[in-house]
Amino acid sequence: MLDAASKGRLMSSYCIKCNRYVWPPNYYCNRCNSDTIFKDLVERGILVEKSISYIHGKIEHFGIGEFDGIRIIGTITDQIAVGDTIGIKSIKVTKGRLDISFVGIPI
Ligand SMILES: [Zn+2]
Repeated sequence: MLDAASKGRLMSSYCIKCNRYVWPPNYYCNRCNSDTIFKDLVERGILVEKSISYIHGKIEHFGIGEFDGIRIIGTITDQIAVGDTIGIKSIKVTKGRLDISFVGIPI
């Protein structure tokens, strides 16, 4: 999963039985306990929440994007509004953690 992310692909585990993504990624479905497979996430999501953080004196805009029912936190620009269609602009792996940024997609 982090391997794929470092190549710029966002994947998650997926349960074929429940027909849904399992987030956070796991080898087993947290609903029915079946084995999961790894699958690419859909490329478009919706921004459902937005907030600002002031860590280390730096202003950053954060958003929560919903991709196929999965909620993912990423950095955004101020121009993106809640309800906008978003895509994944970049994925980095920083110290073993996913560092995702979103980009607004014009409809
Ligand atoms: Zn399941």
